[in-house]
Amino acid sequence: MYEFAVVGMGIAGLSAAIRLREHGYDVVLIGDEKSASRVSAGIITLQLENLKDILLVRNSINIIKNLVGSSRLEEIGVTCRGFISVEDSEEAEESAELLKKAGIDFKQFNSRDASERWPWLDLSEDEVVTYTWDDLSVEADQFIDFLMNIAEKKGVRVQEDWVEEVIYGEKNKLILQRSCEVEAEIVLLCLGAWTRDFLSKNGINIPTAILRCPAYRFRTANNITAFADEVYESYWRPGIDGTIVGGGYHAELVDDSSKFFNSPPRRFRSGAEKLLKIRLKNGIEFVEEWSGPCSITADLDPLMDTLPGHENVLFIDGLRGYGLMRGLALGYLLADIASGRKDLDTVREYRLSRFSSLL
Ligand SMILES: Cc1cc2nc3c(=O)[nH]c(=O)nc-3n(C[C@H](O)[C@H](O)[C@H](O)COP(=O)(O)OP(=O)(O)OC[C@H]3O[C@@H](n4cnc5c(N)ncnc54)[C@H](O)[C@@H]3O)c2cc1C
Repeated sequence: MYEFAVVGMGIAGLSAAIRLREHGYDVVLIGDEKSASRVSAGIITLQLENLKDILLVRNSINIIKNLVGSSRLEEIGVTCRGFISVEDSEEAEESAELLKKAGIDFKQFNSRDASERWPWLDLSEDEVVTYTWDDLSVEADQFIDFLMNIAEKKGVRVQEDWVEEVIYGEKNKLILQRSCEVEAEIVLLCLGAWTRDFLSKNGINIPTAILRCPAYRFRTANNITAFADEVYESYWRPGIDGTIVGGGYHAELVDDSSKFFNSPPRRFRSGAEKLLKIRLKNGIEFVEEWSGPCSITADLDPLMDTLPGHENVLFIDGLRGYGLMRGLALGYLLADIASGRKDLDTVREYRLSRFSSLL
């Protein structure tokens, strides 16, 4: 019998479990190794298109700084600090306004000055480069391992298993696939793209679509800073061993969870390769590709709420393609709400009721 059971070992579940232990609760974290978080491209940037998201990422970066302690950044999978966006002048003006509003320090460069500073980057004359320096890029697998270690060190009981069913009640009973059942007073469901099917078994419908998104790794002689090409639409970061990781914004709808991690279609790879070649002056060589699920709501904001009819069960979903970077802040928020430290109304804009007319 635990005070809290957190289901899902992606970024949301791990963060929530760590936060609950920081508050001193008895926590079990149940889940499977495979997650969108582990296969994500690993970009954590402040250069997003909405204020709420930028503030969430700023919180996530502060949380990471606190968790890192005396470890070296490379040990936890960080491959780069800072981020640049390539935009046309109109978009660059909007980005500057937004970053100012969020209180984020940044610098903008015209294409001539940017080319001197980042000589590997191919720019057109009229393009503007926005630079922020607190952002992080990570090898996601290594970063999630780091968070798993932190969770265990803090005393989270980790159980690798699959939750077949939750029997809801004053004490919730979690029926596991491989071992016996677990009881918990409060359950946090952090199931990512698996949430929709899991809840529908209890007759609870949530309006999310699941996209399977690809990522690519290329070898290159360029020593790049992480960047987004907002003109032709691609994003990239440095990886280990002289590689670059990222992709275009290709995606395809997927309904069957057994296909969440299938290989991406060939046409997406050639699309991504073309997009990267537009921006890099040196050649690239394909190394590997993979894909994973992104769960997305109609208004692009996450979902965070109690389960209808069950006040002691909370869920989070809909982190879409920005989940690694927002997930730490959102996981902490979920834990603070579940433990009564914050009110659900602080996340009114994330609650399921905003979609009541759709359901
Ligand atoms: C290719 C790709 C690139 C991406 N790049 C970026 C990026 O650069 N930056 C960024 O911020 N975001 C990125 N994302 C998005 C990001 O990965 C997701 O938004 C985020 O990982 C979602 O986190 P989560 O914790 O909600 O879900 P997940 O990480 O998927 O975790 C959910 C976990 O729940 C487990 N689970 C589900 N059902 C059960 C059950 N019944 N019992 C036990 N366990 C269960 C799953 O196995 C999984 O481990 C990318 C995504 C993809 C696919």
